[in-house]
Amino acid sequence: MNKNKSAAAEFEQTVSADELELINQYTRKNLREGEIYTFSVVLCDNDIDRDFEYFTEDTLKSLAEMFVGVTGIYDHDPTAKNQVARIYSCGVENLAPKKTAYGEDYMRLVAKAYIPICEGTRDLIAMLDGGIKKEVSVGCGIEECVCSICGEDMRTHSCGHVKGERYGDRVCCGVLKNPSDAYEWSFTAIPAQRRAGVIKSFFGNDEAGYEERFSESSQGGVVSIEEYNRLKSYAENLKEKAEESRKYKTYLELETVKSGITAKVGIESDLLENMVKGLNVSELLRLKGIFEKKAAEVLPVKSQLAEYCGAFGERKYESLNNQFDI
Ligand SMILES: [Zn+2]
Repeated sequence: MNKNKSAAAEFEQTVSADELELINQYTRKNLREGEIYTFSVVLCDNDIDRDFEYFTEDTLKSLAEMFVGVTGIYDHDPTAKNQVARIYSCGVENLAPKKTAYGEDYMRLVAKAYIPICEGTRDLIAMLDGGIKKEVSVGCGIEECVCSICGEDMRTHSCGHVKGERYGDRVCCGVLKNPSDAYEWSFTAIPAQRRAGVIKSFFGNDEAGYEERFSESSQGGVVSIEEYNRLKSYAENLKEKAEESRKYKTYLELETVKSGITAKVGIESDLLENMVKGLNVSELLRLKGIFEKKAAEVLPVKSQLAEYCGAFGERKYESLNNQFDI
């Protein structure tokens, strides 16, 4: 018996010719009714979310265009085997007279998606058909988050208003504008998970933003290629800084040992070298300061400097000092 046929019979649906045409734009071979399962899913809305942020109607409309063709994943795992459903149409639905918390017409982004029926997708389809797996989270890039009280961009300027705080009769919110990318939507494994809903990524150069994004990723978020590249260059920059810090620490170790010897503290140089390796930068600076003070008592300042430059060479001393200007 053909397994696909039995699965198709299990999830009998009517798919219109127009819908089939839209779906077949994305398929390698033309699929027919009975070979695909279609369903509607609410991606997000324009009401205030748990971060005290909301999308405008225009943002939702732009996202509606961006989400067409985007594959949905299961369990936040963006590997091919988990990319199970694809959106073939998406639009903004106005649910008037229902209003949002800030008094606008309530709108939501509703997508239609399809899943090819096969053994691998059968369980998910059964859950969708039974109305179980309806909760999804979406990931999108947003360029602007504007203060609802004063209109300043809350990511590039600090206007002083705090999201979630009340100012007169208004609660401050971040108004999300100019979406740049709609990169994923996923069925949430645990409906109650903290970030179930909308995962917004803000592109910028501020470190706080990256740190927030890193912590979101650890909550099971997914990054787009563009965002991955930005995070990669941020990580490379950090690596470079770490390398400079390592060089600076080595330089400080050498300096501290030298000062110790000059100060005639009575500790043999190999023992001193081992001791300083266990110290952090601030401890090294403190110890170096103590040794230098002592050295100044032992030797006149002029000869101390001469010895110092003699060991490192004047040029090297200068370049090290410039390089690690703190
Ligand atoms: Zn403001």
